[in-house]
Order: sequence, then structure tokens, then C-alpha cells
Amino acid sequence: MPLNINGQTNLVGLIGYPIEHSLSPAMHNSAFAALNLNFCYVPLPVPPERLGEAITGLRALGFVGANVTVPHKEAVMSYLDEVTPETQAIGAVNAIVVREDKLIGYNTDWQGFLTALSEGGFDPQGKRVVVLGAGGAARAVVYALAQARVQVTVLNRTPARAQALVQDFSPLFPRCSLVSLPFTPQTLEVQTAEAHLLVNTTPVGMWPEVDQSPWPEDLAFPGHLTVFDLVYNPGETKLLRQARAAGAKGIGGLGMLVHQGAAAFELWTGEKAPVETMYEAASRTLRR
Ligand code: NAP
Repeated sequence: MPLNINGQTNLVGLIGYPIEHSLSPAMHNSAFAALNLNFCYVPLPVPPERLGEAITGLRALGFVGANVTVPHKEAVMSYLDEVTPETQAIGAVNAIVVREDKLIGYNTDWQGFLTALSEGGFDPQGKRVVVLGAGGAARAVVYALAQARVQVTVLNRTPARAQALVQDFSPLFPRCSLVSLPFTPQTLEVQTAEAHLLVNTTPVGMWPEVDQSPWPEDLAFPGHLTVFDLVYNPGETKLLRQARAAGAKGIGGLGMLVHQGAAAFELWTGEKAPVETMYEAASRTLRR
């Protein structure tokens, strides 16, 4: 945390519930310090029933912006003055900018995913992708992938949610093939046999349930796949260990976290984000 907080300090908040394990305060405060910016990022735990008050309060308290995390990313949209077109399509906000007294909602998760995917050496153009999960993060991932000509199959435990995702996005991306199926060991096996990339957007395997994986124990892991796990805590999930053991390439979720944060940082400050500093701070906090 910066020690010289004063009346001119620009405040940015993190609104979620619970948020005690978030890496974002350390990541952003290190970035502000690295660029010598008079900004401070504060955790703001807000229970669902107080979300409206908290969002309106950002304006009254003079915040320059905020991040929004679980469970508020979708509900927050109804308290904002504007959202960007891609945020509207995704249906989830993870960053707010207060500009000329207006609350503007952004989704930077999709950009974070695309940058991290490219950093991991994977070009989605023309590829077949299987996405596990159909929540807010899955919508950002499918939106990002659909910027390229891709074939995406969304597998979800609750099939209706995956169907809704495909129905919403298909008209927006006519060049892409988007399909939904129930998430079962059989659909997973069949769909990944021909796929190039598997993206886990479910929280399965996240700390403290580190011995869990969305990939069943008794199903051989296809060595030809690249696996992107959005879970970043632990850094190497059980799914990534299964992939590594089969000779498949794995990409962890920390890069996406850093790059969605970098995009939000640039919106709030107008400065280029010090991505290396953000990686170091996030990794350091993760290991503690
Ligand atoms: P969400 O909206 O609650 O969606 C969760 C999805 O996971 C739903 O499709 C849900 O299926 C599925 N799911 C949950 N538990 C499951 C289980 N035991 N077995 C099978 N499917 C299960 O959450 P979200 O906002 O999309 O976030 C999902 C994950 O992505 C979280 O772990 C979050 O931390 C991570 N994330 C990471 C980043 C990053 O920067 N790395 C960014 C955003 C999110 P149902 O529809 O059947 O409930």
C-alpha cells in the first residue's frame, strides 16, 4: 500500500463478496507504486443486498473506478449509466470507470484471456475449442475466441445455461460455429478427441479443493490438446498436472488475471500498465 495517501489520492475499489483472497489489491498497488501514481486500490467487501448502495456510493465518494468480482459481475449492470457494446454482449462487468460523473461498465476479462492465450503461444484462428462451463467467465472466453474463425463447443452441467450462451452469441458471430452440449464424461471424451484447445471456466480445482479436476480420473487425457485453466490458485491445478503428465501443453489462469487487470489499469490511469510488476506482485501474493 502507498504510505502517502492524501486528499488528492485517486481511489479504486474492488467490489465482491468475499474478497479476502484476491490478488488484485497487491497487483494494482504495486503497479501504481512502480509508475509513481497517486492511486490506491482498496478491497470493498459488499454483500449482494447492498450492491446498489455501494455502486452509487462510488460516485459520491469520488472513486475513479472499481473492479467487480464474484458474485456481482452480472447484477452490477443495472446500476451503471453505460456499458460498452462488448460488455453488453458478454453480459458481465469486471471494471467500472467513473467519467464525468457517469459510471461506465467494461469487461476486460475477454481481452485478458486473448492476450494470455497468445502469450501461451496458441493462435485460435481456424481451431476447434471445447469450453467447460457457461457462466460469466465462459461468456468472456467465447466472446474472445469468436473474434477469430473458430468452432466452439460449450459443455455445461446445466445444459440450459450453455444453450442460452450459444443462442446469444450465434447471431453476433455468423462466421463461427457455436454448439452447446451437457457436460458429461462422454461428451468431454468425444468433443476433445478432435479439438485443439480445452478451456476450463468452471471453478473446479480452485483452492482449497485442489485435489479436484473437471477431467475424470478414469479418462485418458489427450496429449494433443492445449489446456487453458482459468483457475489461478493454485498456479498449477490438478487439470494442468493431468495435461502435463499426458504431454499436453497447459496455460494457467494467472496470465489472464494480470492482463484483465492491466487493461483496467490503463482505463483508470491512462498509462501503460507495468505488466511485469503486476505478474511479480500477483505471483508473490499467491505463494504466501
Ligand atoms: P459462474 O458465473 O458462477 O459460473 C461457473 C460455471 O462453472 C457454471 O457454468 C457452473 O455450472 C460451472 N460449475 C461450477 N461448479 C461446477 C462443478 N462442480 N462441476 C461442473 N461445473 C461446475 O463463475 P464465473 O464468474 O464464470 O467464474 C468461473 C471461474 O473462472 C472461477 O474460478 C473464477 O475465479 C475464474 N475466473 C478467472 C479469471 C482469470 O482472470 N483467471 C477471470 C474470471 C473468472 P452451472 O451452470 O451448472 O452452475
